[in-house]
Amino acid sequence: MAVENLVRPNIQKLTPYSSARSEFKGIADIFLDANENPFETGYNRYPDPLQRAVKNRISTLKGIPAENIFLGNGSDEVIDLLIRIFCEPREDHILILPPTYGMYQVSAGIADVAIREIPLTEDFQPKPGEILAAANTKSKILFLCSPNNPTGNSFDSALVKRILEEFSGIVVVDEAYIDFSEQDSFIQLIAEYPNLVVMQTFSKAWGLAGIRLGMGFASEEIVALFNKVKPPYNINQLTQQAALEALQNEQQQQAWVDEILEERSKLEKALDQLSFVQYIYPSDANFILVKMDDPVAVYDYLIAEGIIVRNRSKVLMCEGCLRITIGTLAENKNLIAALEKYK
Ligand SMILES: *Cc1c(COP(=O)(O)O)cnc(C)c1O
Repeated sequence: MAVENLVRPNIQKLTPYSSARSEFKGIADIFLDANENPFETGYNRYPDPLQRAVKNRISTLKGIPAENIFLGNGSDEVIDLLIRIFCEPREDHILILPPTYGMYQVSAGIADVAIREIPLTEDFQPKPGEILAAANTKSKILFLCSPNNPTGNSFDSALVKRILEEFSGIVVVDEAYIDFSEQDSFIQLIAEYPNLVVMQTFSKAWGLAGIRLGMGFASEEIVALFNKVKPPYNINQLTQQAALEALQNEQQQQAWVDEILEERSKLEKALDQLSFVQYIYPSDANFILVKMDDPVAVYDYLIAEGIIVRNRSKVLMCEGCLRITIGTLAENKNLIAALEKYK
């Protein structure tokens, strides 16, 4: 399959903006090329448009060449760029597997790109046969979220591989929660599948939702398309610095993940004791989906107690469910105490 043939004609033809910082890459003493203010503030220069230092560290950490990494202003920018690169408005569509992350649909809606929904099975696994049957030449992107938000489970890797083999558009595997998962990441498969894009983020396990930094791993061809379409300086300097600092302290991330996983299993056990809790979905992420009697009443009660969880009870196949993020030990204790009072 040629990725080139999936790209919108206007993007194929596009001459990208060439910034001062991308035209001159060498070393010099005097920079009079970008209309910057010459007085040092720490931030008076434009940042590296290709974030080379950050990508080099990510490359070492993940074992993926820097040429196969794209960085976005959150994964949300990666999603948006993918749709604008591949989907012709009012002509092409994307495939999504509800219940899943809401941004795929919203980004498509903003771009005036239709969606086709192929719901997951009862145990929240993709249905390859139905997905492939629903796809045609206008199906440019399939979004798979694993571990899936809001259900928390990972997809069976054999199912994902079958889809990767047979779907003739771009397959995006959104791994925002992979650091909490027992499953292997799909990133190593980008060498094998030219149509695979794997997304990860600094927003969850890395504790950096505030800096807005998302990662896309893909073939050099797809990374070149991202770079062609992105705003020239999409990752600001503060973000690049904060990411570099965090990447220097990988043990901290692992310690947080370990603690969150321990807290997750404690919370599962405590929730299981509550009479109004019907089912706790198995989670491979830093949240749990919980089915209960009268979820809206519980949700409102928790708000009155000063605790906010996510009401997913109106979402297809999540009827009766609240989604609870794992907090600190103290926060989870407060949550459990409040829920015990409720019963
Ligand atoms: C939280 C989350 C993200 C992260 O988005 P950012 O823009 O990187 O903060 C991506 N995908 C899913 C499914 C998420 O739940």
